[in-house]
Amino acid sequence: MDFELTDDQRMAVDAWTKVIERDILPITKEYRDSFIPKEAAHRLLKLCGEYGVGNGWVGEEDGGLGLDYLSSGLLFEALSRHAPDLAGIAWVTEGASLKVARTGSPELKARYLPGLVAGDIIGCSAISEPGMGSSVREMRTRAEKRGSNFHITGEKMWTSNASIADIVIVVAKTGENEFTMFLVDREEHGFQTQEIDKLGLNGWSMGQIVFDDVVVPEANVLGVVGGGLRETFKGFERSRCFVSTLALGIGQAALDDSLTYARDRRTFGKPIAGHQLVQALIADMATKLHASRLLVYRALAKLATGQRCELEAAMAKSFTTESVREIASQAIQIHGAFGITREFPVERHLRNAQMLTIPDGTTQINQLIIGRFLTGENALA
Ligand SMILES: Cc1cc2nc3c(=O)[nH]c(=O)nc-3n(C[C@H](O)[C@H](O)[C@H](O)COP(=O)(O)OP(=O)(O)OC[C@H]3O[C@@H](n4cnc5c(N)ncnc54)[C@H](O)[C@@H]3O)c2cc1C
Repeated sequence: MDFELTDDQRMAVDAWTKVIERDILPITKEYRDSFIPKEAAHRLLKLCGEYGVGNGWVGEEDGGLGLDYLSSGLLFEALSRHAPDLAGIAWVTEGASLKVARTGSPELKARYLPGLVAGDIIGCSAISEPGMGSSVREMRTRAEKRGSNFHITGEKMWTSNASIADIVIVVAKTGENEFTMFLVDREEHGFQTQEIDKLGLNGWSMGQIVFDDVVVPEANVLGVVGGGLRETFKGFERSRCFVSTLALGIGQAALDDSLTYARDRRTFGKPIAGHQLVQALIADMATKLHASRLLVYRALAKLATGQRCELEAAMAKSFTTESVREIASQAIQIHGAFGITREFPVERHLRNAQMLTIPDGTTQINQLIIGRFLTGENALA
């Protein structure tokens, strides 16, 4: 068992961090806690794409950088440390690109992949609905076959990137207990989006998408008719690992900010970093972050070998996102009253961290997946 990153991985993260600080932060600083508009998102995705962020999972044969999942996760973590909203935009676009690369027809791949990997096309994936999140099979959005087209009607909710997306990968019911995945193009087929006002990650679009009898040709089916949920569940393993890398970045930022503040702030004649109970808080934050990192890297390493990692991904996602929420709260405690003001970044870290315990399987759903592995009983059936 080797716990060290390779020289290549370390060099890639170092080079990428310099690019983040030099080229990306000057742009994302303008949108700290406020919506990153489409034009800026394209500009940022182009910068990210040169380093394999937002396109790294797509193989070189399809125009991507073909990075392994662990290396890619390290880059996302580094980006999320400084700009978690942009990391989210890139990650969701990358997920949509991979679905097109893996399941799209040669025509769909030729038409959409070059733009997706170049940052010219922004993607999103729409599964959740107002009446259904955890229980995916209860979705209501329908796609009805008429001739050589499908007519899609329904409402999707909480879709990341919705307002800035050019294409949506949508899962819809095509029969009783049959689900199919489609690529829908905003300009060509038309869909309406409405941005949702939310707690954190406010630079990262999240919205509602309405499909009002949207007509999509049969050729826009991704994979096979009826194969939509299989692809979706496979994608969840990957997305649980990657949402965890976003959490790691936020957790690291909260720890770094706390260390800086604790060394600077003085009470009872010395820096608060010298008080034992403050050190206990810092030790607890750092240990939780380290344990999270080990879980996430382990899951990513398994994913990189092409093995299923449902158990590891569920453990990594539930533990890391809950731990980072606690870490961010402890960061506020260390900052005292200043911690709850907008003057310091830690209140934002907590709002951002809170966002991540919900998507890609809530903490409870991931606990039930872990429970299923350990007991052999499926509480989600
Ligand atoms: C930041 C963010 C990004 C997102 N991005 C996307 C996206 O890009 N595309 C998309 O389709 N969706 C997205 N979502 C939606 C997300 O997938 C859902 O919010 C999630 O699946 C939970 O569904 P829900 O909100 O309807 O909660 P519900 O399913 O209604 O759950 C409510 C509560 O009940 C608990 N619960 C539910 N069932 C059980 C059970 N069987 N046992 C125990 N507890 C249970 C849950 O853990 C939760 O605490 C995103 C959400 C967030 C917060």
